[in-house]
Amino acid sequence: MTSDNFDHQKLSNRILLAMGLGLLFGLALNWTGLAEHSGVDAFLISGLLSVVGEIFVRFLSMLVVPLVFVSLIAGVSALSDPKKLGRVGGKAVGLYMLTTGIAISLALVAALLVEPGVGANPAEIVEREIAEQPSFTQVLIDMVPRNPVAAMASGDMLPIIVFAILIGLSIALAGEPGQRVGGFFVDFNVVIMRLVGFVMLLAPYGVFALIAVLGATTGWGTFLGVLKYVLLVLFMLILHAALTYSLLLKVLTGLSPLKFFSKMRAVLAFAFSTASSGATIPVTLKTVEQRLGADNKVASFTVPLGATINMDGTAIMQGIAAAFIAQYFGVELGVTQYLMIILMVIMASVGAAGVPGVGLILLAGVLASVGLPAEGIALILGVDRLLDMTRTAVNVTGDAMVTVVVADSEGELDREVFEQA
Ligand code: ASP
Repeated sequence: MTSDNFDHQKLSNRILLAMGLGLLFGLALNWTGLAEHSGVDAFLISGLLSVVGEIFVRFLSMLVVPLVFVSLIAGVSALSDPKKLGRVGGKAVGLYMLTTGIAISLALVAALLVEPGVGANPAEIVEREIAEQPSFTQVLIDMVPRNPVAAMASGDMLPIIVFAILIGLSIALAGEPGQRVGGFFVDFNVVIMRLVGFVMLLAPYGVFALIAVLGATTGWGTFLGVLKYVLLVLFMLILHAALTYSLLLKVLTGLSPLKFFSKMRAVLAFAFSTASSGATIPVTLKTVEQRLGADNKVASFTVPLGATINMDGTAIMQGIAAAFIAQYFGVELGVTQYLMIILMVIMASVGAAGVPGVGLILLAGVLASVGLPAEGIALILGVDRLLDMTRTAVNVTGDAMVTVVVADSEGELDREVFEQA
């Protein structure tokens, strides 16, 4: 484990402050009408702020593939017992599915009680392309890369994970040459983690810019007609994070949920402002290892895996959105159809990559499975960005919580690090 050349707590606070200031700045531009001024837009909003925000996200994205690859090889090659990998994988996948199942069930119950689609009056119906959800068999086949370099070039997480695990296992079994190569990856991992630390130092500026653009460019009027939907999704996201995750963490490890969330501040801010679990992987990984105490052997596997297959926040949005659309169009759904929604949402969560907006695109498949019109997506498109940001924060919290639980169950959690201020 490496020490870092900055105070993580101070940095987390600066990032949160930058978020608040960015929001105020963006809203001020929006509400004073300055945002509509072509000069202000060209130089400031589409200019400086967008450039800073975009560059910041690129720095993060730049690190994802090399970090996952190197860190996973370092972790797997250091395993004394390869069977442990199977156990860690089984526990992680089981917990990821369990939390997603709880999330979608809670969301559907809430949507049936609150009925957000009854009387909704969307201000703006935006047309969009409908995407096909990959079939489950295709997801399975695509896990094995035909060409690992191509998988890395396009950032496909599951085949990268499979390839890195196989290389790591081979290193562990290859005797002395394996030890030499393994040592290189362990050292390289330290170097990349240091680079993640540098990029994190840019976060206050990047986050300020991203949130300011959001505040300046969001048409808040679009929220009014579907306010019940927006508030219900936000409420359920917060409830799931605060209740389900806290309970699981407390019951399964005895650790303090408050401490967990306090140490997750920076990760939450990154996920919220980038709306991408994938781009947040470097920060999630660094935080669970260096602040929450999970060993690289577990975290290097469970964090990128979770960023790809575990999307509780997305499941909550999709469940409520499906019920919303059914209610809006006056379609009655039966028990079988709700069960179908649960299944499809869990599969969408597994099949979706952790990038902005994908949850809404994959909603088309969920709707189609129960005969709801895919055009319903247009009703909620205008308000999805804010929900995307919030659900991404929940998605990465789930990844981190499961990582801590699995690490603890494997004796790979340094409780002293977790308890530190
Ligand atoms: N943006 C989300 C994520 O990266 C996925 C989604 O669209 O729900 O986790």
